[in-house]
Amino acid sequence: MESIDVLVVGAGPAGSTAAYRLASAGHRVVVVEEHPKVGEPVQCAGLVSRRVLDLAGAESFVRTSVRGAAVYGPGLGSTSFRAEAPRAYVIDRHGLDVYLADRAARSGAEYRTSTRFDHLLPTAPPDRIAVRLAHAEGTSTDLACRLVIGADGVASAVARAFRLRRPVEILPAFEAEIPNSPGDPEMVEVYLGRHISPGLFGWWIPDGAGGARVGVAVDADGTPARVYYERLRAHLARRFGTPLGSATAYLASGIPIGTLPKTYADRALLIGDAAAQVKPLSGGGIFTGMRCAEIAAQVAHGALARNDLGAGALAEYDRLWRAELGEEFQRALYLRRVFTRLNDADLDRVIEALKDAGSRATIVAFGDIDFPTHVVRELLRTSPSLVRLLPKALGAWVGGSAYRAPDLEPGPLRK
Ligand SMILES: Cc1cc2nc3c(=O)[nH]c(=O)nc-3n(C[C@H](O)[C@H](O)[C@H](O)COP(=O)(O)OP(=O)(O)OC[C@H]3O[C@@H](n4cnc5c(N)ncnc54)[C@H](O)[C@@H]3O)c2cc1C
Repeated sequence: MESIDVLVVGAGPAGSTAAYRLASAGHRVVVVEEHPKVGEPVQCAGLVSRRVLDLAGAESFVRTSVRGAAVYGPGLGSTSFRAEAPRAYVIDRHGLDVYLADRAARSGAEYRTSTRFDHLLPTAPPDRIAVRLAHAEGTSTDLACRLVIGADGVASAVARAFRLRRPVEILPAFEAEIPNSPGDPEMVEVYLGRHISPGLFGWWIPDGAGGARVGVAVDADGTPARVYYERLRAHLARRFGTPLGSATAYLASGIPIGTLPKTYADRALLIGDAAAQVKPLSGGGIFTGMRCAEIAAQVAHGALARNDLGAGALAEYDRLWRAELGEEFQRALYLRRVFTRLNDADLDRVIEALKDAGSRATIVAFGDIDFPTHVVRELLRTSPSLVRLLPKALGAWVGGSAYRAPDLEPGPLRK
């Protein structure tokens, strides 16, 4: 049986980031990807912060930048902010994945496409774990490795194989590419409301070529996300005063929400969507997945060097990523619980409360798509009309010095 150091399952941004770091450190790394080509199909709107470009060390995949956002309530009342400098980047997501895979391959990682992690084998050589890989043409190969990194996305087979718990919620998402869309090419638009996007929001993101990526992610109530997408199109037609053009491409996928209790096991680590390392207020997971992949690679490198790949040693990864991102996730999950209880009238009132110049200046000053709870906290500190709408528990959280999400059920909005 072929034997390697690290098997990375999944060639998305998280998998290729970990593969790059570990191969660069001299480990023998194989990346398996079930699709025939890295980066296809695209399942992402591709809006990222500067941090993603820094982690990748490149900008070749950037299509355009945006300077702000307009947020629309269900009644199409809106508030907006526009910064002087770019605040986020719209990327060619396929280009990012290909770039990251090339970088890892140039550093020595071996990519095997059309190859799926299937299951763990019951027996393995000493100090190894054995896996069965299934190939698209119907054959299979067995491989022994010292460590498995599950970067295989929201439906992670690696997580299941190592009996690690799955995300609390998976939000169905549906997106389309619309060429020649009306709208401001320097602004992202966010659409709130139970009718079009219960549980998260709808988005209109300029694509840098005169078109837009338009999509929704919704609470899984059984209604297909595509139904909500069609409602968002109707909403956008009202907003723009003209119907949107036909879509040239569609994507449907799921967004994991809610951190896992454990992201490691004996000889295994989970990273990215497989570990539900996704921002609960936006569903974005590229930055968080890549950052956690770097942390995973750092811990794995030490564990491989010491030949101690038991759960006890790998728990360090779990501790380190939570130390960096855990509190933001926890606060965001709390705010999400508040947000999902708002009805359409509440949401319109929140938008109304954020229209004043002071709130908009606060958003420009504190807005950060990777750490959105900071701006929410500042808004709650500085906007009395917003605070009047919110449950008392949230007020206590904002006023508290510990800056931890309270362990309280948020109540209904105060009117
Ligand atoms: C509609 C939508 C829009 C989004 N928009 C944004 C956005 O604007 N900004 C942002 O930051 N995030 C966004 N996200 C989230 C983002 O796409 C994910 O967080 C990110 O792709 C996670 O990266 P990953 O490497 O963990 O997993 P993935 O990118 O999902 O990669 C996992 C890879 O593993 C492969 N795989 C799966 N199972 C196996 C197996 N058994 N064997 C081998 N290979 C396997 C898959 O084919 C895939 O290539 C969006 C998500 C959706 C659904």
